[in-house]
Amino acid sequence: MIEVFEAIADVRAHLDRARRDGRTVGLVPTMGALHEGHASLVRRAAEACDVVCVTVFVNPLQFGEPEDLDSYPRTLATDILLADENGATVVFAPTVQEMYGDGTVTTVSVAGPLTEVLEGASRPGHFDGVATVVTKLFAIAGPCRAYFGEKDYQQLAIVRRMAADLSLPVEVIGCPTVRDDDGLALSSRNVRLSPEERRAAPVLHRALGAGADCVRSGATDPGVVVDAMTAAVAGEPLIALDYAAVVDASTFATPAPLHGDLRLLVAARLGKTRLIDNLGVTVSDGTHRRGK
Ligand code: AMP
Repeated sequence: MIEVFEAIADVRAHLDRARRDGRTVGLVPTMGALHEGHASLVRRAAEACDVVCVTVFVNPLQFGEPEDLDSYPRTLATDILLADENGATVVFAPTVQEMYGDGTVTTVSVAGPLTEVLEGASRPGHFDGVATVVTKLFAIAGPCRAYFGEKDYQQLAIVRRMAADLSLPVEVIGCPTVRDDDGLALSSRNVRLSPEERRAAPVLHRALGAGADCVRSGATDPGVVVDAMTAAVAGEPLIALDYAAVVDASTFATPAPLHGDLRLLVAARLGKTRLIDNLGVTVSDGTHRRGK
């Protein structure tokens, strides 16, 4: 039977006890409204860890627009079922009061290109909110493996860097993006798309494919690759592109000429909904390999 905790002290005591009994702990931080993408992280964690704790917390610190926070889908009862079915043993679902009391004045902030570009530039303060809540969740959970999706690739890179810089006792594990059959990356925000917007949305994945094809066919000028992605999205009137970019997969700087492990990333608005997606492509010794 899955156990559900709302209090920090209770989940901490449970995970401490598990480790004392020699069991390993896996952590899957989420904002709830769980779907097959989250389920894939839970299954990965359950394969490798004895105890799997899924956290469900819609973190106000990482939202810029109050409207986005207020309308974020909340489905805790079905989240608990999905977590259970996929091998989680614990759900930690704290209230905002439990996490932040009457407010926190301590913020964890990762500096440099990793947080300044792309999502960092489009959503000021977002990554401080993410870094702060993830540090707090790591502090609550204690030594563990933590599973994050490549769907939020910049977030994954930031969390990895933060855990290394602060010597946190957590092994950060990235997991591939789960997509619908038409290529759209699963996201809790997809439920907000109108039927027309939902039909238009897979163009983001096709744009990433066009960028990857461009790299594979030998383009080494980042501008050419960005243009290929932009052109792919431009044909879809319901989508307003926020950015299309190609960066080094770990530093998020843009190498020119392009080389090594690259990440293509896009963000766009469809009506009121903002979607992001990304794809890996590697250039090594003249050979080009496409990632997930
Ligand atoms: P969220 O609830 O959106 O904050 O996401 C919680 C975790 O699930 C993050 O590590 C996400 O990157 C991951 N995730 C969200 N969507 C997907 C997906 N389609 N495939 C894989 N992981 C995902």
